[in-house]
Amino acid sequence: MTLMGGTSEIALRRAIVDAGRKLYQRGLIAASDGNISALLEGPDRHGGAGRVLVTPSAVWKGEMTPDMLLVVDFTGKRLKGDRAATSELPMHLAVYRCRPDVRAVVHAHPPLATAYAVAHTHLGEPLLSEVVLRLGAIERVAYNAPSTEQLATSVAASVADHDVLLLANHGALTVGHDLPDALGRMETLEHFATISLAVRQLGGGIRLSDSQVAELRALASAGRFAADQPQPWSPPGQPCTTCDVWRQAVTAKVASEVVKQLAKANIP
Ligand SMILES: [Zn+2]
Repeated sequence: MTLMGGTSEIALRRAIVDAGRKLYQRGLIAASDGNISALLEGPDRHGGAGRVLVTPSAVWKGEMTPDMLLVVDFTGKRLKGDRAATSELPMHLAVYRCRPDVRAVVHAHPPLATAYAVAHTHLGEPLLSEVVLRLGAIERVAYNAPSTEQLATSVAASVADHDVLLLANHGALTVGHDLPDALGRMETLEHFATISLAVRQLGGGIRLSDSQVAELRALASAGRFAADQPQPWSPPGQPCTTCDVWRQAVTAKVASEVVKQLAKANIP
């Protein structure tokens, strides 16, 4: 199947392998960088019975095969697979626990977007209409070492109201209602960073006005761009249009509790 196909386990395994190959071929990761996960269909997608398909640790994501992936539950317990899961598994699980509308998470090191994250330079200026529509606000997350509880906690708190995160001195994380949605956001982020850098080299650009940004957000909320965005982006505080659940105002305290619970679990 293609990335736009169904969500059976075998189809999702192939879609994640395909996503890893695309990330590598497009230069958004190098060697064994990055990690990808997606929710499997389950009896209760909003409850504790969720199952996550996730990439293994220390494998080149451009050269994976479907059998290399693992299935874990929401506590991190390995249900299927022989390999160790990505060391960033707590970060992925914290996202799913905090955002019931999210069904896929992509973490990569896209070069130009990561350069902005290293320079601690703002990439969130509204310069392009499509970026406002597709990405919403790009959130910056303070530096924490990879695979740590602190990184998972910071990401969980920031992802409550954002779909695209720049991780300081590290890389980027995108989420989506499905895998193409999350992968597309990663690609759009890097494309925007490329344009943004060119604009800076030209001496600066003209940002969209507040009223133009508000107009774009209204269009996104109304689902006018459903072809590009199968599950329309819900601005902070708005109900998810597909999940019938409200985005939770997740505080750092709640996120920290999620991570503590994960730390207690037997993460493979
Ligand atoms: Zn990373």
